[in-house]
Amino acid sequence: MSTEISKIGVLTSGGDSPGMNAAIRSVVRTCAFHKIDCVGIYRGYQGLIEGDFKELNARSVKNIINRGGTFLKSARSDDFRTKEGREKAYQNLLEHEVDALVIIGGDGSFTGGMIFNEEFGFPVIGIPGTIDNDIFGTKSTLGYDTALNTVVEAIDRIRDTASSHNRLFFVEVMGRDAGHIALNTGVGAGAEEILIPEENLGLERMLESLERSEASGKTSSIVVVAEGDKSGKNVFELAEYVEENLPGYDIRVSVLGHIQRGGAPSCYDRVLASRMGVKAVESLLEGKSNYMVGINNDEMLLTPLDKAVKGKTEINKELLRVSDIMTT
Ligand code: ATP
Repeated sequence: MSTEISKIGVLTSGGDSPGMNAAIRSVVRTCAFHKIDCVGIYRGYQGLIEGDFKELNARSVKNIINRGGTFLKSARSDDFRTKEGREKAYQNLLEHEVDALVIIGGDGSFTGGMIFNEEFGFPVIGIPGTIDNDIFGTKSTLGYDTALNTVVEAIDRIRDTASSHNRLFFVEVMGRDAGHIALNTGVGAGAEEILIPEENLGLERMLESLERSEASGKTSSIVVVAEGDKSGKNVFELAEYVEENLPGYDIRVSVLGHIQRGGAPSCYDRVLASRMGVKAVESLLEGKSNYMVGINNDEMLLTPLDKAVKGKTEINKELLRVSDIMTT
């Protein structure tokens, strides 16, 4: 592999997600495999500006593949949004003789990386780390699969109590402006209704569906609501609305919150993280820069960072139909 790169820096930025540690491990070990140095940068771009660097070798990343979060810590950095901050970051990289950066984070982190690359010509590659799966250019982001499993398990537990008390539960799940988590966990956990931002079918439809299931003898139900749902009501208001219109239901609300971001990564996320780390480092060594690593049809691919940032992901419409059929 021909390259002028002899040291790569790795950082995690923005919100954490399960699989980030496994990705750091992969970056470090791929560097070791290719006999180049690797330096970990703590607290994302803020640590880059403050010179919070630590040399990492293959042994520094033992026993982390199974751990959630990121041992390098993550941060949001307002300083990196300024030219002075980025100049400082660049000087630190020169001082530590770092030749390229692997940025594990979301679209904000990639935007920062792109601007940095534009200003200083510094090679960067992104690895998409977010549970929301809302980044264009990859079928799956790091942490998404783990979050799906966490959410399904939580809804299963809620279902136990829902069916014991004949209750209707509204469960709010994460995903920001995307409904991937809600749609997939809704189908996976057998929800009666799934409300997602991409498909606002109106509240009437939800009432009709709940009425139908009540009439068909169902005594408990789950409605999964994406946090970015566009019905115009938050999950508590939705519950009130249904309570007013269908007084036969005993309704409860559960907002799953940050438990969805934690926990040991699933096998899928560990494998994905390992593959993404290898692809990121080897792409840099091949002279590529300003790309994001992704996966599609079980193959690793690169997407230009600007496309990854600007592009929109689409929900799987077939799943909506499957959900409808399953709630017959
Ligand atoms: P998440 O998906 O969890 O929100 P993210 O990477 O999108 O992750 P952001 O907070 O949007 O999270 O961005 C992380 C960091 O990237 C910011 O704190 C900032 O330091 C940097 N960043 C984001 N946008 C820009 C920008 N336009 N210019 C420079 N830096 C930026």
